[in-house]
Amino acid sequence: MEEQLKQIAQWIATSKRIIVFTGAGLSTESGIPDFRSPGGVWDKYNPEDFYFQNFLASEISREKYWQMATEMYGPIKKAEPNPAHLAISELEKLGKLDCVITQNIDGLHLKAGNSEEKVIQLHGTALYVSCLSCHQKYDRDEIQERIKKGERAPLCESCGGLLKPATISFGQSMPEKETQEAYHRSSLSDLFIVIGSSLVVQPAASMPLVAKRNGAKLVIINRDPTSCDHMADLIIHAQAGPTMVSVLRYVKQGLEMANKRDN
Ligand code: NAD
Repeated sequence: MEEQLKQIAQWIATSKRIIVFTGAGLSTESGIPDFRSPGGVWDKYNPEDFYFQNFLASEISREKYWQMATEMYGPIKKAEPNPAHLAISELEKLGKLDCVITQNIDGLHLKAGNSEEKVIQLHGTALYVSCLSCHQKYDRDEIQERIKKGERAPLCESCGGLLKPATISFGQSMPEKETQEAYHRSSLSDLFIVIGSSLVVQPAASMPLVAKRNGAKLVIINRDPTSCDHMADLIIHAQAGPTMVSVLRYVKQGLEMANKRDN
């Protein structure tokens, strides 16, 4: 394992366009359950209740959706970045990050200190709510207050449209700008590091493939096997936090040694 960590650090040192691609597994150490692990969201809810078409179809579905969304927002609001988020933010400070492409909706990369222009939030964010008709944006806490006071499926104050957390549900169109940007950057990357994703949700899961086809090295750090393990250059099946802390330590050691050599 130590040799693998050193190898990742060495690739980070020599690569020019490094992408870190993250999923729900990155944030479990911050107390936010993922979807597919035991005790995760799919153990508790029926995935169909998250389908966008159902949200549009009936008031009952919207009320159910908001009930689940409210329950899931609790841990997201409380969560703090964990050592893996902080290590990724350090990579940016070291000038070693082209961008983070994240499927997460918890905002923890930004809270950890990564800058907005470096984080592509492919599935939106749970920290805001938007109107599906006029696209007015609301702070999530403001809407949660309305729910606390008894609203069950809140409507837009400006146009009466349906309000929904600014996240992408199953069956909802992906955000065009973010998706194009993510594909473009993936195709140019020379090192693509996946952390905490089962790589089953499309189209996000095709990005490692795009990177690999265009010559990037593919590293996967995930507790369980993923759908792309067969094409990875290096796989570590372990917890994200401790793994990234060690990788970062080796990266910094390498940079210090290089500095000493140059001086
Ligand atoms: P997933 O639930 O399909 O897979 C998570 C993977 O992370 C699993 O394979 C698991 O083995 C691994 N994992 C869990 N804890 C880990 C840890 N501490 N260290 C290393 N690996 C760990 O998640 P996904 O691939 O991101 O796809 C599911 C969808 O879920 C995404 O679209 C995302 O938008 C949404 N989601 C996001 C959050 C969040 O924002 N934190 C939480 C739940 C779901």
